[in-house]
Amino acid sequence: MSWIETNEAIFRLSVFVAVLAVMLLAEWRRPKRPLTRTRRERWRGNISLTVFNTLTLRLFAPLTAVGAATWSQSHDMGVLNMLALPEAFAIILTLVLMDLAIWYQHKLFHQWPWLWRLHLVHHADMDIDVTTGARFHTVEIWLSMLIKCLVVMILGAPVIGVILFETMLSGMAMFNHSNVALPKQVDA
Ligand SMILES: [Zn+2]
Repeated sequence: MSWIETNEAIFRLSVFVAVLAVMLLAEWRRPKRPLTRTRRERWRGNISLTVFNTLTLRLFAPLTAVGAATWSQSHDMGVLNMLALPEAFAIILTLVLMDLAIWYQHKLFHQWPWLWRLHLVHHADMDIDVTTGARFHTVEIWLSMLIKCLVVMILGAPVIGVILFETMLSGMAMFNHSNVALPKQVDA
């Protein structure tokens, strides 16, 4: 077992805090657009929703994506657990396929009217900044976790691959939504 697997919570929290700190600093030093509301007003809503979503998942979800991977591994379930592929290959495949699943999920949330109503919480943010990246309806967060668990179990994704995916997903969401003026070539 790798260090990341035994220290999942510390690893994910450290990366989250580090990315958040960098983005907040960049938003403060090089904001792209002026905010229409104060940070205090924005963050009160966005951060309390994010904390609420995280707590409901941690406290009530019978299974998270990482838990699903641990379960599949111990029961030898899922395609990758049955095939003896090199670990690096299994990790890369996990990252690519889970990213594809989340991309497709996002597409569905735009196309299906009842899903769009949930997803509107994310798009209705009056300004966009680093906190928008985690501003989602609680039901969308739960549905997304259900989809991730299914993908992980069918694939038999390695635990380390799922931890890396979850960490990258939240890190990229913070980076993509942050209100930072990037140099033109980088932004393109
Ligand atoms: Zn969207």
